[in-house]
Amino acid sequence: MHNKKMITVKNVCQVLLKKGLISQEQSQMVLSRAESQAARLHTNQKSGYSRRFSQAPEQVSPAEIISSFNLEISETGKILTEDAITEAVAQAVGVEYVKIDPLKMDLELVTEHITRAFALKNLIVPIGMKDGAVVFAQSDPFNTQAVEDIRQARNIQTVQVLASRSDILKILREFFGFRASVMAAQSEVVNGTDLSNLEQFVQMREHGEIEGSDRHIVSAVEFLLQYAFDQRASDIHIEPKREKSLIRLRVDGVLHNIHTVPKQLHPPMVSRIKLLSRLDLAEKRRPQDGRIKTTHKGKEIELRVSTLPVAFGEKVVIRIFDPEILMQDLDSIGFYPREFQLYSSFISKPNGIILVTGPTGSGKTTTLYSSLRALSSPEVNIVTVEDPIEMVMEEFNQVGVQSAIGVSFATVLRNILRQDPDIIMIGEIRDRETAENAVQAALTGHLVLSTLHTNDAPSAITRLLDLGVPSFLITSTVVGIIAQRLMRKICVECKHERILTPEEIAYLQMDRKDVTVWEGAGCGECRGTGYRGRTGIFELLDFTENVKSVISDKMDLSALYAVAKGDGMINLRQVAVSKMLEGVTTYEEVLAITG
Ligand SMILES: [Zn+2]
Repeated sequence: MHNKKMITVKNVCQVLLKKGLISQEQSQMVLSRAESQAARLHTNQKSGYSRRFSQAPEQVSPAEIISSFNLEISETGKILTEDAITEAVAQAVGVEYVKIDPLKMDLELVTEHITRAFALKNLIVPIGMKDGAVVFAQSDPFNTQAVEDIRQARNIQTVQVLASRSDILKILREFFGFRASVMAAQSEVVNGTDLSNLEQFVQMREHGEIEGSDRHIVSAVEFLLQYAFDQRASDIHIEPKREKSLIRLRVDGVLHNIHTVPKQLHPPMVSRIKLLSRLDLAEKRRPQDGRIKTTHKGKEIELRVSTLPVAFGEKVVIRIFDPEILMQDLDSIGFYPREFQLYSSFISKPNGIILVTGPTGSGKTTTLYSSLRALSSPEVNIVTVEDPIEMVMEEFNQVGVQSAIGVSFATVLRNILRQDPDIIMIGEIRDRETAENAVQAALTGHLVLSTLHTNDAPSAITRLLDLGVPSFLITSTVVGIIAQRLMRKICVECKHERILTPEEIAYLQMDRKDVTVWEGAGCGECRGTGYRGRTGIFELLDFTENVKSVISDKMDLSALYAVAKGDGMINLRQVAVSKMLEGVTTYEEVLAITG
């Protein structure tokens, strides 16, 4: 390959053959169809990029072409990805391969060293510093001229590494898109307008025509949202600081700093988001809530926007609700078979109360929505009362609580019962009146699903007693209680075994000597965290006759635990440990979640 100085489908296939990643037959199939596949990919990419990215480079890379066949590697059974192919090529030509982690990129570095046009033409992107040299990732290892040009023009040390073309294009699109928008908006602000009047200036135009100069803010916000969707973020934080605006994303429960934006662009970005979510632009001193419905890759996505005045301005948090996460098949949210059976029996009861407990962010809403979806059919009337409505779903009749104008859970519930519902979902039972309404609804033949803020299932009973529900009404209405948490799953790409230390085994009070567990070393797929995705863990308290018999107004919680355990309840810690032993999660995560 060194002599040809060209990457072609043919020579990449030879590399893959040599490494045993493809078979002779697969290679022949790829070669015979490579040309038509390339044309097809090229057309797709053109249409995909055209919206914002008119200068999409012409050549589809051999790695992209080969990976588009989704070949199975016979040895591992895995699909041959563009990354795997690029890595094989990198080894063959003796260049280091990198999987670019967008969350770790240095925005300044990207835009400081090269222009967008140069980056696109050469498919090159600076990804970091190493020993005083700037590391440039390229998709063509033989295009050494580009790096050489930069080295001479900027008089810097350079290192060349290899990354997939898709990664490089994605980074260029996201970074230059966002950065270009921000810089353009900033230069207009600085050149054309008095900074102190900026907010007013933006608002005037927002109300009038959305075009001309604030299109930069519009596209900056759009880039930011697309980027967050691509990164599977659950939240976007836009925080005003003394001298800048900080943008952070939460991915798998962890916050990452993404961008810092000049301070003067914070207000117009916030205005843009408030406009999209139909919030009152002029109101900056009171917190507000709104929502945006949008699509990403053909999927509907719902965003809930909340603003909060803080010391240096308005802080915005955007929660991203992915319907595919929020509404799943009940058997895919993490239940073990026994728990799944039991929970299914809870929700198939014609009437009664089912409670889901856990702290904020433990996946309660996913459980509730997924349950409602499982129960949903044309013959049943499902009504929800939520504060606020988490995600607008057409199948359900959803009512939002508005405490400010006196529409509380309790008032809504009273009215709902006149609407002939079969199943009622109450966002949360927080007060005595709501608890009484829930009990009333259950006694009059409705199935009620709701949440309570308690740490485990048995404590929910104590909480109901505290809210003034007499024990005889609890035992006659509650069907079952579920406590849950979300645990991070180990990244399957970098998973490896380790042995628990005797101290760790002792800490978990396990009666064993050698315990093998797994953890993630950190790789490009999991952006170095060792985790990717999350799963629910569940503790189910079934209201068996034994359990009911120990529930009284002056209940002894420890007696309840003992009886529940005797009837088969597996607590959150035990479930977490099982997930650890199965290699789904780590020892550390078990402690963090159930410690
Ligand atoms: Zn990994």
